[in-house]
Parts: sequence; C-alpha cells; structure tokens
Amino acid sequence: MTPNGRKVIIIGAGIAGLCAGVLARKCGYEVDIVEQHERPGGLATSWRRGDYTFEGCLHWLLGSNSDDPMYEQWHEVFDIDRVGFFYPEKWMTIVNERGDHLDIYSDVDQMEGELLRQSPQDELEIRRLAAAARGLRHCPLPQPGNSWIRDCATRLRLLPYFPLLRKWGRVSAGEYGTRYHSPLLRAFFGDGEMSHLSALALVFSMAWVSNRNAGYPIGGSKAVIGRIADRFVSMGGRLQLGEKVCKILVEHNAAVGIQLEDGERMLADWVISAADGHATIFDLLDGKYVDEATRHLYRTLEPFPSWIQVSLGVALDLSQYCGYITRVLDHPLTVDPGTRLRQVSFRVFHFDPHFSPPGKTALTCTLPTRNVEFWAALQAQDPARYKAEKNRIADAVIAIIERSTEPLRHAVEVVDVSTPATVIRHTGNWKGSMEGWLPTPETGFRPLASTLAGLHGFVMAGQWVMPGGGLPSGLITARQAVRHLCRHDGVRFAVQEPTALPMQTA
Ligand SMILES: Cc1cc2nc3c(=O)[nH]c(=O)nc-3n(C[C@H](O)[C@H](O)[C@H](O)COP(=O)(O)OP(=O)(O)OC[C@H]3O[C@@H](n4cnc5c(N)ncnc54)[C@H](O)[C@@H]3O)c2cc1C
Repeated sequence: MTPNGRKVIIIGAGIAGLCAGVLARKCGYEVDIVEQHERPGGLATSWRRGDYTFEGCLHWLLGSNSDDPMYEQWHEVFDIDRVGFFYPEKWMTIVNERGDHLDIYSDVDQMEGELLRQSPQDELEIRRLAAAARGLRHCPLPQPGNSWIRDCATRLRLLPYFPLLRKWGRVSAGEYGTRYHSPLLRAFFGDGEMSHLSALALVFSMAWVSNRNAGYPIGGSKAVIGRIADRFVSMGGRLQLGEKVCKILVEHNAAVGIQLEDGERMLADWVISAADGHATIFDLLDGKYVDEATRHLYRTLEPFPSWIQVSLGVALDLSQYCGYITRVLDHPLTVDPGTRLRQVSFRVFHFDPHFSPPGKTALTCTLPTRNVEFWAALQAQDPARYKAEKNRIADAVIAIIERSTEPLRHAVEVVDVSTPATVIRHTGNWKGSMEGWLPTPETGFRPLASTLAGLHGFVMAGQWVMPGGGLPSGLITARQAVRHLCRHDGVRFAVQEPTALPMQTA
C-alpha cells in the first residue's frame, strides 16, 4: 500500500468500522479508528464468565463458502481461510408444551421431505417455499457504490430473480406463516416483533444455509472481529479504544475531524461514521444536515427490536440436543410491561469447543423487547429491582429450557443476564436495536443514502445504511464508503474485486 497523503478518522470499531479501516489502509489512507468501548466488535461480541464464553451475536457468517464472491470480499479484510465453520445438519427444532416437535433441516431437500412428512396438509406451501429457497441460492447481493459498469452487470444478473424477489418481498414472515395449518410450522415463521420481517429474508436464509454459505465460525464473533482488528493494526492502522466521540467537527460544510469527550480534537480529510445512525446524524452533527427524506426515514422505518440475553453455563454434556431450539409456550412469558412472548428460542453451544470445558455447555437465550425505557430507567433508578427482574427472567428461562431438554437447574454454574440498557451502554445503538433497520415488506433491502445533503468529507457505513444489518452489511457498506473516498480523491480503489460469479455448487 502506497501512502496517498490523506487521512481518515472512523468512528466505531464494529464490523463496519474495522472493515472500512482495513480497506482504507489498503488504499493508502492514514487511518484512526476511535471506539468508545474497551474492545472492538460492537454488536458482534462475546464475553467470558468463569469457565464459559457467551456469544452475543453470530448464528452464521454469510460468505463462508469459498465458492461465493462474498468469501473473496471477506478475504480482503481477514484470513477467513483459517476459520473453521460449523454447518449443522438440523438448523432448528421447534417444540411445544405437549412434546410435539418439528425439525428444520439445513439442506432444502431434506427440509422439504421432513416438513411434507410432518405436515402433508401443507404440501402446496411447503413445495413453494422449498422451490423459492432453491431458486434464490445463486442470487447476488447488492454492492452499493460499485462503478456503473459493475452496477449494470449486477442488475443484469439479478433480472432472472426479480419475480421471486418481488413475490417474497411483498409479504411479511408472520403473514406468510398463516397459510400453514401446522401450528409448529406457523411458529417457524415468527411471532410478535420478528413476524414483521420480510418473508424474503427467511427464504434467503434458507437458501444460504442450504448452500453451506452461512456457517457458524468456530470461536464465534471473536474469531472474526479479532482477526480483522489484528489485520488493521498490523497494516499500521491506529485503533483507539475507550474514547467516545462527542462531536463531528465541521468547517464550511465539510467534516474536518472529531472531538472526543475529554475535549481532545483530532483532524482528518475524511470522517467515516460507522457508529449508530441516529446518534451520528442528530447528536454528533447536531441535526444540522438532516433533509426531509432522512427525517422521514428515522420517523417511519422500524428498527429491529432490542433484547434481553440470558446466558447459562451448565455442567452437563448437552450434545444430544439440536443447537437451536424454539419452544412454543402455552402460557406467554412476561418479559417486561408490554412484552409477552409466546415462543422462546435458545442456543446450545455444544458445537463450539471454545465456549466451555469438555462435558459442560454454554447456552444463550435471546428475548426480544421494545421496552427499552423500562430497562434503562430500572437500571438507573432502582438497581435492586433491576437485579430482581433479571433473576426472575433467568429463572423462567431455565424452566423453559428444562422443559425442552432435561432437568439442569442443579448443574447451572453461571447465570449472566444482559438487557437493552447493557446494549445501549456498550454500543450506543438507537433504541438498543440488534441489527439496525428491520427489513419489512415496506422497507425492503435497498441500501439507504450513506452521505448527507450539504456535508462534504463525510460518509456513513454499517447497519444503519443497509436494512437487514448483519456482518455482511458492515463489509458491503465499508467498501462503499472507501470507494466514495477514493473516487473523490482520485485514488485507485486498491482492493481486489470478486472474480467469481455467485456460487453454482450444491
Ligand atoms: C442477538 C444477535 C444476533 C445476531 N446474529 C447475527 C448473525 O448470525 N449474523 C450476522 O451477520 N449478523 C448478526 N447480527 C447482527 C450484527 O451483529 C450487526 O448487524 C452488526 O454487528 C452491526 O455492525 P456495525 O458495525 O454496523 O454496528 P455496531 O456493531 O453497532 O458498531 C458500532 C460501533 O460504534 C461504536 N460507537 C458508537 N458510538 C460511538 C461514539 N460516539 N464514539 C466512539 N464509538 C462509538 C460502538 O461502541 C460500536 O462498537 C446479530 C445481532 C444480534 C444482536
């Protein structure tokens, strides 16, 4: 990489900020990443408690198959070929209180066969669903910020997929689920908040999982984030941790740097914000560069909900159970005022040897909620009740897990509960959202504007500029942001373009 004499400051060391850092270094920029937390990763994180590691994010990493173009893009930012991926045969098991269960297999053909066996009365929809998942297996992802030639090429490649994209993009997962007779299959399509998700998101997930292109990286988030952060630092990038940015400095309608909470000012030719979108636009920039379109987005689009995570360290070998279990409840679980869940999902991490000693197992359970104010107020004003509520929820979750597996309360060695207040403190995400904007039939998946009208020297990356979020959105929008810089500075985007067409295997 030849220095190009230009400097960029990146706010946030989540996946988007780190990817932008590596790519900008490749293009010769001097780069500082400033992160408020003591560790990089943002939402893509895990933590250690006693003998156990608890994953707070990754179910899968899209692009884990070396035949897929996304794999090459990951390879640009870390040595993905050194990560081991786990591909479960059974993707998920759904059980109800009567002990009826439904297995959802990763392989589409196997999934179709099993669903037909269990619910023959749903044959028509099962076949439609499987056909759609097969049909979208090779569909390319959007690559915003590409040259117009590449953009046209992608659009051409997308043409054959339009009928499927249109059909499945128009209906929400919950609404689609009502076409099924089997209550367990209905549960698969989600409940409550997550049922607003576009059915297309679910079909894409099935396609990727079936194609072995969305494997779980052994070691979880750390295996990915740690490698990208190391790559960035080894390339001469500066990663400043534990420093909160409180202002983006602007002169003559151009971002010229940032101010930290301790008053220090850092100057640069470019500022990339890979931090929360709302805080960037309305706080760090004082809302001075908000046009009506942006205001409308933040007024009307629906973010993913926040969540409570109950993590358990259990001194038992639970490897006989499916790694992802959804329990449909007869009596809803009250999470907080306004949040009652009729189904609860949990993960049994027997497939990751890094997470517990032999013979023991780490489990996590994610409970979505939108009542962020309740948890934030409780934490700030009534610590004793905050603790009591966390204990109550952990207790209820242990009972649900026991009903779905085996008695294990006696073997629970570690209990850890995080709430939306924890998410906000650690990542600053708006409303404690888990993935930015929820891709609903109304929102779609189209990337949003990454620049603000009237402000130069500034660009955004991350989940708040690409509905659906996820680690791929971090990489894709980081590429878009660095391309933007290169284009304006007349610098070559010295990053290899993926050569392969979308994978044709499996
Ligand atoms: C439970 C759960 C499961 C998930 N599962 C998956 C999955 O299986 N696969 C997948 O691909 N994705 C998954 N995701 C989504 C994925 O984690 C996120 O979409 C992605 O990590 C977002 O990355 P980001 O860089 O855009 O934002 P963030 O991760 O939020 O990073 C932003 C960073 O900016 C920092 N920051 C904010 N404000 C400031 C400031 N003022 N000064 C300095 N720093 C600041 C924050 O501390 C943070 O580190 C999951 C998320 C959750 C919560």
